[in-house]
Amino acid sequence: MRPFCERCAEPFSRSAPGEFLCANCLDRHWSLGRLRASYRAVGVVRETILRFKYGREYAVRPWLGRWMRDGFRQHYAGESWDALIPVPLHAERRKIRGFNQSAEIARWLGAQVKIPVVEGLVRVRPTLSQARLKRAERLRNLRGALDLAPGFDPRGQRLLLCDDVFTTGATADACAKVLQKAGAAEVAALAVARG
Ligand SMILES: [Zn+2]
Repeated sequence: MRPFCERCAEPFSRSAPGEFLCANCLDRHWSLGRLRASYRAVGVVRETILRFKYGREYAVRPWLGRWMRDGFRQHYAGESWDALIPVPLHAERRKIRGFNQSAEIARWLGAQVKIPVVEGLVRVRPTLSQARLKRAERLRNLRGALDLAPGFDPRGQRLLLCDDVFTTGATADACAKVLQKAGAAEVAALAVARG
């Protein structure tokens, strides 16, 4: 197996000596312990995610769930997790889409691996799509955009954030920051695919 970044699991094409961080992670402060994806967002994986998210083809959910489970088994199955936390959508976007794709995939996974899904985070203001932004803009775009859902107390919990895709991990990390600040014991993240 090729070596990969300890933080975000970005594969490295050449052998690297021992443990290392990739260029994306090196000069950043992370709240997130680890960030892992099951697959690369290419070919059929990418297409299926787009069909689910933008085409609103709800029937493809089990495929995404199974792919998510592959990553869970590979990276996180040996540990105990108190809850799966979907990366939240702003209420307006959720209304347009009809569902939060991350929550739907998390629910499929949660039922399989017997871990409760808790929608413990909310987007308190709409954000631009991260995909079109540069890295510094991504971080700025997320500032103050996320908060704990009313009544959710993550103190002492080991939480696994779930998303469909991540690119730089900025959104997942902003989520982790909120949870850490509120006292979570450990926050890691899993996505179906890495963009
Ligand atoms: Zn990295």
